[in-house]
Amino acid sequence: MLWILVFLFGLIIGSFLNVLIFRLPANKNILGFSKCQKCQKEIVWHDNIPILSFLILRSRCRECKTKISWQYPLVELSTGFLFLISFFVFGDSPFFLIYVLFLISLLVIIAFIDLKHFIILDSLILTGFIISFFYLLFPDCSIISCAFSNSIFGLSFFAGIYLFLFLISKGKWLGFGDVKLASWIGFAFGLRNSVDIFYLTFLIGFIIAIILLGFKKAGLKTKIPFGTIMAGASILFLLSGFSFLDLIDGELILRIWSKNH
Ligand SMILES: [Zn+2]
Repeated sequence: MLWILVFLFGLIIGSFLNVLIFRLPANKNILGFSKCQKCQKEIVWHDNIPILSFLILRSRCRECKTKISWQYPLVELSTGFLFLISFFVFGDSPFFLIYVLFLISLLVIIAFIDLKHFIILDSLILTGFIISFFYLLFPDCSIISCAFSNSIFGLSFFAGIYLFLFLISKGKWLGFGDVKLASWIGFAFGLRNSVDIFYLTFLIGFIIAIILLGFKKAGLKTKIPFGTIMAGASILFLLSGFSFLDLIDGELILRIWSKNH
């Protein structure tokens, strides 16, 4: 039954992430009660319960009946499910699980802010570096990058490759914020994992670009929030453990093969 509590905890954290996603880019105080964006009426606690309030109020403000953004339930549910999957995957290593929940929360905030505003805030990247630095002081080596050397290699690999892409495209393919985000992800995940995340990011980006081009409205100049894709790819890698490098080595094929025989 513990998993239900983990899911509810994820919903509550998701609700807090919503607050950060709304207020950080606007430079608003993150403490204090939530207000309706339209009528500025403070939202009472029983109208602020994750998912439930959204359903009960039929996605409208109680006072002025303005539509409440779909972002609220989307972020809450995503965080709830991501926390739940993390619990199933890493439940055996509680210390690492806590680190994973921090990583996921931060990546969710970065992904949604980039999706809405095409910006990646320095304060969030800095927070990421601090959390990852502390993890490296007491690492769980069985799971991800546990040595500073690996993290430094991961950082330089990612910072170098994205800086190169940023410079040759003169900032058209990706922004400088993406270079900073990549530096932290490289540091947090280490060199080998960064190579996998790099493949995954471009695979997802490629699929999204093809889908967007399928719609007539989108042209080659349609802006794609690259940071959102990078954050999504990192979460996907973290929770699935899927490795392209294993695929190249043939390790993954061997593993699947030996499972079936
Ligand atoms: Zn209102």
